[in-house]
Amino acid sequence: MSKQNFVEQIADIEQDFPQWYTDVVIKTGLVDYGPVKGTMIIRPYGYAIWENIQSQLDKRFKATGHKNAYFPLLIPMSFFTKEAEHVEGFAPEVAVVTHAGGEELAEPLAIRPTSETIFGSMYSKWIQSYRDLPVLINQWANVMRWEKTTRPFLRTSEFLWQEGHTAHATEEEALEETMKMLGVYKEFAENCLAIPVITGRKTEKEKFAGAVATFGMEAMMKDGKSLQAGTTHYLGQNFAKAFEIKYLDKDGVQKHVYTSSWGVSTRLIGALIMAHGDARGLVLPPVVAPEQVVIVPIAAKKAGVTEKCEEVKAQLEKAGVRVILDGSDNSPGWKFNEWEMKGVPLRIELGPRDIEEGKALIFRRDTLEKQAYSLENLAAEVTALLDTVQKDMLEAARKRRDGRIVYAESLEGILSGVEGGNFVKAGWCGCRECEDKVKVTAAATARVYAEGETAEKCAVCGKSSKHVIIFARAY
Ligand code: ZN
Repeated sequence: MSKQNFVEQIADIEQDFPQWYTDVVIKTGLVDYGPVKGTMIIRPYGYAIWENIQSQLDKRFKATGHKNAYFPLLIPMSFFTKEAEHVEGFAPEVAVVTHAGGEELAEPLAIRPTSETIFGSMYSKWIQSYRDLPVLINQWANVMRWEKTTRPFLRTSEFLWQEGHTAHATEEEALEETMKMLGVYKEFAENCLAIPVITGRKTEKEKFAGAVATFGMEAMMKDGKSLQAGTTHYLGQNFAKAFEIKYLDKDGVQKHVYTSSWGVSTRLIGALIMAHGDARGLVLPPVVAPEQVVIVPIAAKKAGVTEKCEEVKAQLEKAGVRVILDGSDNSPGWKFNEWEMKGVPLRIELGPRDIEEGKALIFRRDTLEKQAYSLENLAAEVTALLDTVQKDMLEAARKRRDGRIVYAESLEGILSGVEGGNFVKAGWCGCRECEDKVKVTAAATARVYAEGETAEKCAVCGKSSKHVIIFARAY
């Protein structure tokens, strides 16, 4: 296949969304498959997105009083058995090290699937008095949850994430932390990823193994499916009791602490791809895009063109814009295709005539619109335009999603709703049986409670409704 036609190598987004996704992640250089089934290699273009996500989140965590630390990858297997629900939930996906240094180990070691247990064991040592509380620690790490198939960023055995683990004197404080971090995630998703999310509590069936309550944020992908983009867990005293995390309170009484944990992962990159991507490939929001602007010289060999492009690049860099100048010998058309596929938010086209007229053409990846801007003051124009793109992308995604939220009053209604690529709000009596019925009949799961909404009847059994649930098919 000729280079000119490489965009045609991406499957049609309308016809075959899963194949479109696979094509996009591979052909834009975000990832490649690792030699071990279930593993992925995050290539520089993908990792740059992760670094931007990290830096945005990290400053938000620090602004809310958290500090970073690093805990070991290996956790004694016995730790997992201390919290019954936790071990049951994670047992099927834990990878275990049984041999090392040429010998069988006396105790097998788990490769961390999550770190509540090892944080718990250390917190029991570090926390003695009410003066030691709260403890607010985050770690950036890799985790492993065994998978037989590979869906880059969505389902892989090893992935990168952050996990916050906090300990508090009271239930109120731990709950407040759980909700605060859910709010931090939501603000980050909307303002940095331009992805509108619905936050709310998860059902018992969908909660984290070992939590009292789990809260999630759900994002709608372009195929109408939901992607759980982050979760926060109120753990009550479950881990405090399992690991004897106690403190001497002001009244002289020994008490168990209350804990929380919360995490987001490289799944967020999958969310970015599927919430914004289009027929041409990626569409990246400026805040997390590795390159915010690409400059493509037109008739680059003509006198003064390359020099002017270099000059514009320097001006943009000075203004803090992440910019790349594509000086390769590919044709401008080829470059347009490539950078559009890679989702760069803005493209500046600069040729001899533009320079003569003192202007540049700017192409917006999100709207596919092209407009001329004066070369004078171009950096300020570009900076403002990047802000506009960021906001417009969020609004466009919100409009798409809001047009695809429907209500259902029967199981058939839920089925036809999710088949049509919608989030479906429906009344629920609260029983597991009805939740399971939705799963079996509609291949949809309860994503989160639609907080603050009420319905008269359970859409499944017709008994009185306790909650309104958002049902969707999910990644
Ligand atoms: Zn019911």
